[in-house]
Amino acid sequence: MKAISILGSTGSIGIQTLTIVAQYPDKFRVVGLTAGQNVDLLAQQIRSYRPEIVAIQDVQKLPKLQAAIADITPQPMLLAGEAGVIDVARYGDAEIVVTGIVGCAGLLPTIAAIEAGKDIALANKETLIAGGSIILPLVHKYGVKLLPADSEHSAIFQCLQGVPAEGLRRLLLTASGGAFRDDPIQTLSAVTVADALKHPNWSMGRKITIDSATMMNKGLEVIEAHWLFGVDYDRIEIVIHPQSIIHSLIELQDTSVLAQLGWPDMRLPLLYALSWPERIRTDWQPLDLVTAGTLTFSAPDRQKYPCIQLAYAAGRAGGSMPAVLNAANEQAVALFLAGKIQFLDIAHSIEQACDLYHIHNHSDPSLDDIITADRWARQEVLIASQTLEHRAKTLVGG
Ligand code: NDP
Repeated sequence: MKAISILGSTGSIGIQTLTIVAQYPDKFRVVGLTAGQNVDLLAQQIRSYRPEIVAIQDVQKLPKLQAAIADITPQPMLLAGEAGVIDVARYGDAEIVVTGIVGCAGLLPTIAAIEAGKDIALANKETLIAGGSIILPLVHKYGVKLLPADSEHSAIFQCLQGVPAEGLRRLLLTASGGAFRDDPIQTLSAVTVADALKHPNWSMGRKITIDSATMMNKGLEVIEAHWLFGVDYDRIEIVIHPQSIIHSLIELQDTSVLAQLGWPDMRLPLLYALSWPERIRTDWQPLDLVTAGTLTFSAPDRQKYPCIQLAYAAGRAGGSMPAVLNAANEQAVALFLAGKIQFLDIAHSIEQACDLYHIHNHSDPSLDDIITADRWARQEVLIASQTLEHRAKTLVGG
C-alpha cells in the first residue's frame, strides 16, 4: 500500500486524487492533507480519509476546522499557515506527495517534500516554471522522482517509456484552445470572467481555466516540459487539437511519432503518477475511437494568443525571468477574476513586467532571488493595474 500526502486536497486535482484513493483503498493510504481555506470540504475529507496530519493555510480558519472535527478520534495533528503546509509536505512515511496547490505557493512545500526524500506527483506547474533551476538539482541530490500529473506531460512521459534519450527529436504538446478558440480576435476585448471560465473540454480550477483561455497554460507547459524532459525550447511545439483526445506526442529521430490517447479525464494521469511504473486496471470508460470521431489539428494563432510567445521568450531568457512571467500571470489572472482588469490586459501586464525585469534577470538565481523576483512581479502588475482601473473609470465617467 502506497502512503501519499496531498497538497491542495480541496481543489480540482486534490478531489480527483482522493476519488482514486477511495476507489483503490488497498493500494493507497492518505497520510497528510492540506487546503487553503475551504474548512467544510477539508473537514469532510478528514472524516473520510483519516489522515495523520492536516494543515490549513489560512490561519484564521484553524479554530473552525478544530470545531468541525472535534468528535473524531483519533484526532489528526492540525497545523496552520504556510509553515503548516510545509510540515505536512515533509511529514512521516508518505512515499509520494501530490502537489495540487495552485500557483507559486506550492514552491516551498514542494522543496520541503523533495528534501524529505519524497517522490513528487507534479500537478502544480507554477512551481517548476518559477523554480525549475532549483528543483531539478534537488531532485537529483535527494534521488527522488518527479512524476508528471499534468495530462500533456503524463502523455509525453508515457510515450517516453523505453525510448533512449538520444532517440527523441521533438515534443508536441496538444492544446484544446481554451474558451475562445472559435472566436475571432476582435471579440476578445469584450469577454467577461464568466465567458473565460467556460472551458470546452476540461473541468478545472479557476486560475488554470483562465490560463487556458489566454493559452498561457500552454506557454507554462512548454517551460514545464523543458524542465521535466530536459528538451530545449526549439524542440517543443504546440498544436491545437480541439477534441482533447490526443494528450500529447513525441517525435523520434527516425520520424516515428508516438501519442497517448484517452478521454479528457485527469484521473488517468494522476493514477499513472501514483502507480508508475505499474499499470492499475480501472473500470473507467475505455476510449472508443468511433465515438471520439474526427480528430483535428491546427497551428496556434500567435497574434490572438500573445501569452504563448511571452512564455517561450521567458523560458529562453531563463534565470529568474520565468518566475517573473509566472508571478505576473498569477497576479493578472487574480485581478481579472476580481473584475479589476480586462481579459486582454492579462497579456499586456505580463509583457510589461517581463520587459521591465529584463535587465535585472539573474542568470543563475538562488531560491531567494526567485522569491524576490516573484514578489516584484506581483507588485509591478498590481501597481500597473491601478492605472488601468483608473483609465477604465475615467472612460466610463467620460
Ligand atoms: P484549484 O483552484 O481547484 O485548487 C487549488 C488548491 O490549492 C485548493 O486546495 C486550495 O485550497 C489550495 N490553495 C490555494 N491557495 C493556496 C495557498 N496559498 N497555500 C496553500 N494552498 C492553497 O486548482 P486546480 O486543482 O485546478 O489546480 C492545481 C494545480 O494543478 C495548478 O497548478 C494547475 O495548473 C495544475 N493542474 C490542474 C489541472 C486540473 O485539471 N485542475 C490539470 C493540470 C494541472 P482552498 O480551495 O481550500 O482554498
